[in-house]
Amino acid sequence: MGGFFGVVSSKDCVADLFYGTDYHSHLGTRRGGLAVRNTNGFTRFIHNIENDQFRSKFEDDLRKMRGGQGIGVISDYEDQPLLIGSHLGMYAIVTVGAVRNADELARKAFTRRRTHFSEMSGGAVNPTELVATLIDQEASFEDGIQNAQQAVKGSCSILLLTAEGVYAARDRLGRTPVIIGRKDGAYAATLETCALPNLGYDIERYLGPGEVVRITPDGVERRRPPADKMQICAFLWVYYGYPASNYESINVEVVRNRCGEALARKDDTPIDLVAGIPDSGTAHAIGYANQAHIPYRRPFVKYTPTWPRSFLPQDQSVRDLVAKMKLIPIREIIEGKRLLFCEDSIVRGTQLKDTIQRLYECGSQEVHMRPACPPLIYGCKFLNFSRSKSELDLAARKAITELEGDGSGPLEEYAKCGSEKHCAMVEIIRKRLNLTSLKYQELPDLVAAIGLPKQKLCTYCWDGTDSG
Ligand code: SF4
Repeated sequence: MGGFFGVVSSKDCVADLFYGTDYHSHLGTRRGGLAVRNTNGFTRFIHNIENDQFRSKFEDDLRKMRGGQGIGVISDYEDQPLLIGSHLGMYAIVTVGAVRNADELARKAFTRRRTHFSEMSGGAVNPTELVATLIDQEASFEDGIQNAQQAVKGSCSILLLTAEGVYAARDRLGRTPVIIGRKDGAYAATLETCALPNLGYDIERYLGPGEVVRITPDGVERRRPPADKMQICAFLWVYYGYPASNYESINVEVVRNRCGEALARKDDTPIDLVAGIPDSGTAHAIGYANQAHIPYRRPFVKYTPTWPRSFLPQDQSVRDLVAKMKLIPIREIIEGKRLLFCEDSIVRGTQLKDTIQRLYECGSQEVHMRPACPPLIYGCKFLNFSRSKSELDLAARKAITELEGDGSGPLEEYAKCGSEKHCAMVEIIRKRLNLTSLKYQELPDLVAAIGLPKQKLCTYCWDGTDSG
């Protein structure tokens, strides 16, 4: 999906930009990019980060970068930032989101406006360039941003580095967050607030859905007010947000603890210990263990010295191998025990199946699984959320295929917790994973753990509700 970070400072901003962008590395696996602006113009670097950390790739570039204003990005797909020359002046742009109607928008641009795109890769238009083209159709940056966000189906948050300062724009429905940080003499715009404290920034404010601000060394000026309607991605709190981050003033780690507590309140399975699949299941498991007054232990530890980030090689068999090599079982904690694992979610379930098998090989007596969210039934169509390539690969959809003969079936029935079809689907997943028991979090409990009204959250991947 990707993440971004921008800085406007009365001094040189490069160090803050470098570390602030690096703190978004968990959100993307393919490209990293930085752009700074000074009185001589723009300097920009883009690197492939598929097999290397962002920091090691950019360290040498830092000496060549000077400027008080900059933007950076970790991108899951396209090269960014792009440098654009237009009637609005020269600017750099980064985006986070998904342009689902890119082909249609590109066709319109070709036929109606006879425009061209230069950042073609594999025959496809770079979505960030497409957004820049939509911005350039209007007379000002704020009107252009509005034009782009209204045209895009999916979601689109934007940072622009311009001669007038940095523009920060949150997606029209706020699917991804944008937060403004402040310290003496500098402002930051970030997706993850975990980027702020170690750089000395405090949270200044959370942008509302569709809100646009312009940041200069003198302050933050609102250029478009926030809309009422919000559909922030609930999965940010469950899985892919960073534990030390807050969105809408709600901390990720605290929500994960509450998810585990909610699971424990509805469970009386006799077990010896609670564990999380590292790292994303850990906070949920701590919540469960504390609520149930059952010891939290670590049957698996992660080998971090050489597997520091969860990069995703294209080849599935290599991905499975990496997942296996990272987790080391501790037989002394596993043997003869009834283990209960909390996990953020079950996506495809293939790696999880291997992980569970290894527990039995180490002598576990029982393995119970408690995912922190309901079964994933619908593929995300609002973010480039890359955990599963096809909707039909989802563990829940494979189970529905087995029950119905194809993956479509009455999906709303399967999404309904407690329904006959839902229980049959869960039972198939349990058997496939060779679990002693499997109980998913119910959606109302997940919503309560987050603490926002349901109508402000996107819950599409669980219940198919699309209020966009
Ligand atoms: S569909 Fe799921 S992953 Fe996508 S924005 Fe909605 S809650 Fe997030």
